[in-house]
Amino acid sequence: MFNRRKFIKASALSAGLLALDKTSMADVLPTNPKTAKNFPIVISTWDFGIAANADAWKVLSKGGRALDAVEQGVWVPEADEKNQSVGYGGLPDRDGHVTLDACIMDEFGNCGAVLALEHIKHPISVARKVMEKTPHVMLAGDGALRFALEQGFKKENLLTPASEKAWKEWLKTAKYAPVMNVENKLYEKAAPQKLPGNQYNHDTIGMLAIDDKGNISGACTTSGMAYKLHGRIGDSPIIGAGLYIDNEIGGATSTGVGEEVVRNVGSFLVVELMRQGFTPEAACKEAVMRIIKKKPETAKNIQVGFLAINKNGEYGAYAIQQGFSYAVCNAEKQDLLIKGKSYY
Ligand code: ASP
Repeated sequence: MFNRRKFIKASALSAGLLALDKTSMADVLPTNPKTAKNFPIVISTWDFGIAANADAWKVLSKGGRALDAVEQGVWVPEADEKNQSVGYGGLPDRDGHVTLDACIMDEFGNCGAVLALEHIKHPISVARKVMEKTPHVMLAGDGALRFALEQGFKKENLLTPASEKAWKEWLKTAKYAPVMNVENKLYEKAAPQKLPGNQYNHDTIGMLAIDDKGNISGACTTSGMAYKLHGRIGDSPIIGAGLYIDNEIGGATSTGVGEEVVRNVGSFLVVELMRQGFTPEAACKEAVMRIIKKKPETAKNIQVGFLAINKNGEYGAYAIQQGFSYAVCNAEKQDLLIKGKSYY
């Protein structure tokens, strides 16, 4: 941040641009011109990001577009029935419906989203169709399903026996109190039948990629908070909350208790902080601090994590609680898993 400020000051002085405000300076100055090219690259949330990144890398390593990479990357957890927080096999709402939220955003600022979509295994691809085939950004519920079917998507039962069993177990107490930091442990065990019925599971895959041309895209997809009220929407399909891309600056995505991310328009905030010169990690930390400052008592008992990448392919993350991991894949290493820093 210090160097960039100095650079902006020096350049502005020499170009006689002192009268320009920050925005117009950003317009005339290249972004960190001396930084080496760190892309193609793909990063994504949680341990299951490793497998997702591997499929995204198949696209990126062949010179493919970041948008295709993020869509195909997140197909992996969406189709994985052992992953009970994304796509097929996701834990249902309190009425037993698996309702999926997803959004996608490209380098041109185009975006699409589906909210509370049922019966479709790959909500991310429906979100992409909303972006590409309609004048809208978001479709919800029955309308989203009808649109998906019109587009040729197959109607499927997404409630697996394991998730149905966990839900029935939960119904015995039916208490809604998300348990933080259980995500990794539950997934590592990969034994859905062992899920405690009175606990809650929530995770999201948020993926950000930069392709060989330097263009950035992102995808975010989830089944949301397990046992939520029917119709509840989290941050994940909300552009600016669960995901935001600005091709001049970078991208950000989030995971955790979506209500707190929505209240702070988290991913947009992270990107705007990077625009001001924050590193990806510092921007994620500041977004987390907003949540903590506004609701310190709530924040003690919930998890929220942000993940970000800037235009140069530099990345970082920050979470409220320990236990947030993210996966990184580039030409040097395809299966890097990094433990995100945290406030607590
Ligand atoms: N952010 C998701 C939601 O609130 C859940 C998660 O990522 O843990 O629906």
